Amino acid sequence: MRYVIFADVHSNLEALSVILEYYAKEKVDKYFCCGDLVGYGPNPNECIEKIRHLEVTTSAVVIAGNHDLASVGLKEISWFNEYAQAAILWTGKKLTAENINYLKSLPQIYQDENLTLVHGSPRDPIDEYLLNLKQARENLNFFSTEVCFIGHSHTPFFYQKNLEGEEFYGNFLQKNPVSLTTRMKTIINVGSVGQPRDGDPRAACAIYKLEKREIYLTRFEYNILPVQ
Ligand code: ZN
Repeated sequence: MRYVIFADVHSNLEALSVILEYYAKEKVDKYFCCGDLVGYGPNPNECIEKIRHLEVTTSAVVIAGNHDLASVGLKEISWFNEYAQAAILWTGKKLTAENINYLKSLPQIYQDENLTLVHGSPRDPIDEYLLNLKQARENLNFFSTEVCFIGHSHTPFFYQKNLEGEEFYGNFLQKNPVSLTTRMKTIINVGSVGQPRDGDPRAACAIYKLEKREIYLTRFEYNILPVQ
């Protein structure tokens, strides 16, 4: 079984399309989206429709991010900086009625026997930016599966703690996959599809190979010019 986990698309259709076209040719069992389908980029409706299509064809799992909620009036925009506020107001006007209802319907947390998904952090699913070791430690008790996938900071990161109390953490990079064991809990930020903030402009997402119990980061070049 192979899962693709992605976050923070931010209405960037070019980046999303490159990833989905690549994985359409690979054998992927399920897609998981950790929120922020919209905000910043120019194609909110097209991105939502592509992701809704994944739900129909592959029973993808999608949860809400802070920009998704703000764009449909479910969150105060005074929380955001002025550029984000302008993008949220613009997005809200562009969204079709059907896509507004879709964003309103998204849950804030998803959990099954294998994994948990949230946008921000396990203890504050919409708003907390999980950025440091202290926060990662504190969040470990707020989910019960062995791995929790997050987005929101747009920076790939992993944190693990085993039963002996040993900790492993750092930048989640293409060259080092994260291995899961039953004696360990793991938090992984899968980076951003549409607006990476880790100094690498390529679109990011993660692949979880369930039998191998390994999670890999992948990066994709895409055409940035039409998005700009
Ligand atoms: Zn975001």
